[in-house]
Amino acid sequence: MTNLSDVHVLPDGLTVLVRRMFERAGWDERDATLAAENLVLANLSGHDSHGVGLVPYYVQAAERGALRKGRTLTTVLDAGVLLTLDGGMGLGQVVGHDAMAIVIDRARSLGAVIMNLRNSHHLGRIGHWGEQAAAAGLVSLHFVNLIGMPALVAPWGGTQARFSTNPVCIAFPRPGEEPILLDFATARIAHGKTRIAWKRGQPVAEGNLLDPAGEPTTDPAVMWSQPLGALLPFGEHKGSGLAFMCELLAGALGGAGTIADRTDWNAVDNNMLCILIDPARMGGADVYAAEAERLLAWVHETPAARTVDRVRVPGEPEREARARRRAAGTPIDPTTWGDLVECAVSLGVSRKEIARMTGVSVEG
Ligand code: NAD
Repeated sequence: MTNLSDVHVLPDGLTVLVRRMFERAGWDERDATLAAENLVLANLSGHDSHGVGLVPYYVQAAERGALRKGRTLTTVLDAGVLLTLDGGMGLGQVVGHDAMAIVIDRARSLGAVIMNLRNSHHLGRIGHWGEQAAAAGLVSLHFVNLIGMPALVAPWGGTQARFSTNPVCIAFPRPGEEPILLDFATARIAHGKTRIAWKRGQPVAEGNLLDPAGEPTTDPAVMWSQPLGALLPFGEHKGSGLAFMCELLAGALGGAGTIADRTDWNAVDNNMLCILIDPARMGGADVYAAEAERLLAWVHETPAARTVDRVRVPGEPEREARARRRAAGTPIDPTTWGDLVECAVSLGVSRKEIARMTGVSVEG
C-alpha cells in the first residue's frame, strides 16, 4: 500500500545506496553488491517486508557480532546427492547465493540434490533462491525454519506462538520465460508485513493476528512490543501443518535445530532444506515444458470472478510489480526511508551523497 508521503526511488540509485552502506559496514564489493541487488529486487517484486528496510536491522546485527562478515560458508556433509552446508551466520543474501551455486552445479551433474543450509543469517525472500535455480533450468523446492528469535505464529487452534513464519517456495523453470514461482510464508502474512503496517501506522486486515492474551486484533504493534502477540497460520490446519513440516525438514533433518524451547535469541537464523531436480532427467524431457505451458494457458483461461481482472499463476504478481516499480520507482514509507537514511549517515554516507545517488532530496 502507498500513501502520499512515500518516497519513490528508482532501483539503480537504491542499489547504489544500499551497496555503499554494506561496504561502509565492512563487506567487500562483491558481497555488498549481491546483498543490495537481492534486497532491491524484493522491493521491486512488491515484497517490501524483505527489501531495503531490513538494512538497519542487518547493520545492528553485525555491530553486535550476530551477523558475521567475510567467507562463512562451510561444508558439514558432502555425500553426493546429499549436502549439508553451514552458513556460519554470514549475510544470508551472500551465503544463500553461494550455497545455491554449489547445489545448482551438483544437480546439473547428478540430476537431483538435497541440500540443508544451516545457520544462515536472514535468507530474505526465499523466492530469490527458487529464481536462481530456475534460471539454471532446475526445479527447486525450499522449506525454511527460523531460529534465533522468538516464535511468531500460533499453531492452528492455539493462542500462543510456537512456529516462525516458516516460508515455502517451489520454482518451476520455463525455457526462455520467467518461472512459475510459488513463494510464501505459512503465516497468513509475513512478519515483515506487520513491520511495514506498524511503521505506516496502519492496522492489518482482520483474521491475521492475536494479541498477547490470545484475542483477535488488527494492531500490528503486538508483533513489535513485549509481550508478543502471534500471527495466525494461513489455511487453518493446513498452513499450520506445513509450518510444522518446515520445522522438521529444515530444522530437524539436517541437524540444524527446530524452534522448540529456544531462548538463545540473538539474530534471525534461517535453516533451509532445498531439493533441486533437473527436469530434463525425470523421463519427461520432451514434454515437461510444453505441459507446463498447456497447464498455464488452461488456468489463465478460467473465467475471472467479479473481484479480479483475470486469473493469475504464482510469480505473476511479482513480475507485474517489477514492471511497475522499475519504471515508477519503488515506494518506501517515510519511517522506513528515515531509518535507512539515518543508518546510512551513521555509516558515513552523507545526506548529500544519498540525495545524489537516489535523486531523493534528504533533509537534516
Ligand atoms: P504472499 O502472501 O504475497 O504470497 C506470495 C505468493 O503468492 C507468490 O508466489 C505470488 O506469486 C502468489 N500470489 C499472490 N497473489 C496471487 C494471485 N492473485 N494469483 C496467483 N498467485 C498469487 O507472500 P508472503 O507470505 O507475504 O511472503 C512474502 C515473502 O516473505 C516471501 O518472499 C517469503 O519467502 C518471505 N519470507 C521469508 C522468511 C524468512 O525467514 N526468510 C519468512 C517468511 C517469509
